Amino acid sequence: GAATTSTNKDLFTVNSPNVVYTDNEINTKYTYRTTLVNETADGKFEAIPKEVLYDFKVDRKIPKTGMMLVGWGGNNGTTVTAGIIANRRGLSWDTREGPRAANYYGSVVMGSTMKLGTNAKTAKDVNIPFQNVLPMVHPNDLAIGGWDISGMNLSAAMDRAGVLEPTLKAQIKKEMTEMVPLPSIYYPDFIAANQEDRADNLIPGSKASLAHVEQIRKDIRDFKAKHGLDKVIVQWTANTERFAELIEGVNDTAENLMKAIENGHEEVAPSTVFAVASILEGAPFINGSPQNTFVPGAIQLAEQHNAFIGGDDFKSGQTKMKSALVDFLISAGIKLTSIASYNHLGNNDGKNLSSHKQFRSKEISKSNVVDDMVEANSVLYAPGEHPDHTVVIKYMPAVGDNKRALDEYYAEIFMGGHQTISLFNVCEDSLLASPLIIDLVIIAEMMTRIQWKAHSTDGATTKDFGNFHSVLSILSYMLKAPLTPPGTPVINALAKQRAALTNIFRACVGLEPESDMTLEHKLF
Ligand code: NAD
Repeated sequence: GAATTSTNKDLFTVNSPNVVYTDNEINTKYTYRTTLVNETADGKFEAIPKEVLYDFKVDRKIPKTGMMLVGWGGNNGTTVTAGIIANRRGLSWDTREGPRAANYYGSVVMGSTMKLGTNAKTAKDVNIPFQNVLPMVHPNDLAIGGWDISGMNLSAAMDRAGVLEPTLKAQIKKEMTEMVPLPSIYYPDFIAANQEDRADNLIPGSKASLAHVEQIRKDIRDFKAKHGLDKVIVQWTANTERFAELIEGVNDTAENLMKAIENGHEEVAPSTVFAVASILEGAPFINGSPQNTFVPGAIQLAEQHNAFIGGDDFKSGQTKMKSALVDFLISAGIKLTSIASYNHLGNNDGKNLSSHKQFRSKEISKSNVVDDMVEANSVLYAPGEHPDHTVVIKYMPAVGDNKRALDEYYAEIFMGGHQTISLFNVCEDSLLASPLIIDLVIIAEMMTRIQWKAHSTDGATTKDFGNFHSVLSILSYMLKAPLTPPGTPVINALAKQRAALTNIFRACVGLEPESDMTLEHKLF
């Protein structure tokens, strides 16, 4: 369809005494209903419905927004850039299967819909594009830039990635050639040694320093000024780093982390330096790779600066399937007893992950994704009991970006029987990740324009409007190992993650959570 831009008017308005539109804001009173549970002395439960009244305030003015990618010259960076340019220009190109046109398939924001309600006349569902639920930035309007340790221009880097069709690449070659990544910071110990020959575009210095933080901050400011932007979102889509060791006095608090950067401590990763610079610059920072960029000190720094962060690791293929399938199996009362996950891929990500320490980051991020679903079912699993779970990743250059993921799910069914499900998932890795990069930017940006205030009888009342917590767990749907505010639970189940996103956005315009009760079709 025709591209919509920031000049679009709202597709719907809410007609309710609880929702007031002004030129600049949507002001909403929303009653959040939950259930508190007490355990009684005889081992039973007492459930008490609870209500908190919130004021939500949505800034309606869509800002001029920029997306800066760390690892811009990689497979994801070049693919998402090419994709946005192709969409912006409404391009189509020939393939051996006929013409193809630019689209945003795989983006929740751009490719999916939400049920607004039931048509008052026909009683049929009315579904609207997700991008119209709130006044969100359109990806076609994003200014794009970023850093890479490889200085190749984006056109050459797109060729190196080997993801897109030559007939498309030819049409965007000129524009892509003019895009050249800014020099980046490279601390060789953090990524695989096999990446060294790419590293030709560097900010001097091979360990963390305040000068590095300052340079990145300046890069963000310059980018903002150059494109006349109101806001910049920074996203790590660079190589997977090894985990940083968590050391008391080094990265445990914001103050210690800043000192460790100043002293060039060897356990401060490049991604953490980017996160710190973005936090200090007030630019939301999202980590698309599995490493522990957000050491406790970085999270604390974000909280202190009221800055937004999100992570970790794009949930694109195998894990997305897993978080849907395992949710289904366990919710169906089927006892999953093992998951064997095997991958082979031939892109540069695969090459980097062929090194043990970097693989280990990925293994950790891929391994914990069923914990919440298992823990929630005390009928099937005893406390502490877990399905066996193994993750293997192999580098196979010949298949390029076409990742293969093979999964075997083994489950116990009724009366000692077994169910085995085998999945074979083949797709271009970067074509799955690119729409997630877009969703993360758009949703993170939207979250910077939503404020809340609480009215309650039990102490939760707040006087002034405030932001959501610095750690944007609302981004969980797009992420394998969702970061949540310290001390709060992690939700991996895909349907729950989608519901949280949809229903929080609905609440901001005074709509009840999406309910599939459809009593209107059952009681008459
Ligand atoms: P890639 O290797 O093609 O791209 C990474 C880029 O980062 C390279 O161009 C490299 O030169 C650059 N780089 C490395 N260190 C850097 C630094 N310190 N500063 C700036 N640039 C740096 O990999 P990719 O396929 O684009 O994937 C990117 C990341 O996303 C990987 O960590 C991968 O694990 C993660 N990821 C990808 C997917 C997916 O593609 N489906 C899913 C989940 C996570």
